[in-house]
Amino acid sequence: MKTELLIGNEWRAAARRYCLVNPATEEPLAEVAEAGEAEIDAAVQAARACLESKQWRELPARKRGLLLFRLADLLEQRANEIAEVETRNNGKPLFESKIDVAMAIETFRYYAGWADKLTGDTLPVSGNFFTYTLREPVGVVAAIVPWNFPLNLATWKVAPALAAGCTVVLKPAHETPLTALMLGELAIEAGFPAGALNVVPGPGSTAGAALVRHPGVDKIAFTGSTEVGRWIMREAAGTLKRVTLELGGKSPNIVFADADLAAAVRGAQNGIFYGKGEVCAAGSRLLVEKAVHDQLIEELAERAKKLTPGDPFEKNTRLGAIVSRRQQETVLSYIEAGKKEGARLVAGGNPAKVNGKGYYVEATVFDAARPGMKIVDEEIFGPVLAVLTFENEAQGIELANRSMYGLAAGIWTKDIQKAVARAIKAGTVWVNTYNFYDPAAPFGGYKASGFGRDLGREALDNYTETKTVWVGL
Ligand code: NAP
Ligand code: MG
Repeated sequence: MKTELLIGNEWRAAARRYCLVNPATEEPLAEVAEAGEAEIDAAVQAARACLESKQWRELPARKRGLLLFRLADLLEQRANEIAEVETRNNGKPLFESKIDVAMAIETFRYYAGWADKLTGDTLPVSGNFFTYTLREPVGVVAAIVPWNFPLNLATWKVAPALAAGCTVVLKPAHETPLTALMLGELAIEAGFPAGALNVVPGPGSTAGAALVRHPGVDKIAFTGSTEVGRWIMREAAGTLKRVTLELGGKSPNIVFADADLAAAVRGAQNGIFYGKGEVCAAGSRLLVEKAVHDQLIEELAERAKKLTPGDPFEKNTRLGAIVSRRQQETVLSYIEAGKKEGARLVAGGNPAKVNGKGYYVEATVFDAARPGMKIVDEEIFGPVLAVLTFENEAQGIELANRSMYGLAAGIWTKDIQKAVARAIKAGTVWVNTYNFYDPAAPFGGYKASGFGRDLGREALDNYTETKTVWVGL
């Protein structure tokens, strides 16, 4: 596969290359080009040239949509291969990578349909005027994404941006650039003009920062940590870039005593262990009403103990390898903190290897967790669940909202009154389900989880400017 930088539909060598490691085998996986400041500048210039060229600016919107449909078809043709690459690069089970690729395809098809449906309004102004609005592309978009859903989260930004007539410079996470490069390859094959989509792997501190500062970038679409999001917002002020931030989370999954407990246990398990817990919306705080606490903990611990880490390519594996040794160390340090701060370990808690290799961590459950503990207050981004207990509904809601984050939440109950999601400060609330996504459903945060929405019609607002036109009659 291609491992150079994609700039203006050409594969360009870089002054430096770096090595990727398969986290499940600890073996070298690939060597890819690393963008430096000069390459970032070239990519932004290619994107800007395309934006202002006839091939893109004057391309009828429906044809833009057609290019997106073609890209979706090409992704579909190579879906298995792309899923395998994602698994080798990220360590997630192949079962999950296939779901990721399927959603990427759906996302392109969803926004392909929007390309020719971005309409303005005619306005009932006073006076003798014909006044209307146009939706115009915001310009060159820098898409900066993390390593947990490398392809998927890239498409959440690339698809609406291209549909709206923007051009894109995509910087994948430095650990997981491979499927982003494949996406670039397929964009050329689909017929996108040179510069519409550029892909530039490289470290955030250099390649990412250069993009954030570049005066030729109009908008930054970022998914990643709250800490980096804050830095980007400050840095983008200098050039007044538009910014949307999809940041971290510490999402509460709230189980009321009247819930279907079997379903709630499954939901709690999937909420934290899907994607190895490296999921921004992971249900990492399980809040349980006291009356059902003992039963729920027992069943959950049982299930967690059975969820053993496995080879991501085995068809029954549901817990893969942590993305890197560094992330594994971070997760293990939180487990140590949980023990030290007095939470009760009821499942997992150890690093693991599969066939003697890999950066795995057992499915871990801490009971008797309380606010003030690191495992309750901080995002771990690993397969570690903190269970807290509450006495009544008001206390449950209060505990749910006691976090700087507000990305998502789950509510398990049969009582429609309790299912009312209004009291929860989060961008997504799942009722009697968890961790479902669809290109039509907006996703993003309240509070320190950021602002702006990916997906849905809402996301298109991030990639357009409104122009008001007054015609004197
Ligand atoms: P991160 O360190 O913030 O990195 C995210 C991306 O930003 C990576 O491409 C990274 O490059 C880049 N970056 C880092 N520093 C930068 C800088 N100074 N300027 C420009 N770009 C920079 O996050 P992460 O550790 O990879 O991912 C985990 C975080 O992402 C978690 O907090 C998680 O909650 C969040 N997340 C949020 C969502 C959501 O939709 N809300 C989804 C997934 C993940 P490098 O690869 O070189 O670090
Ligand atoms: Mg990072």
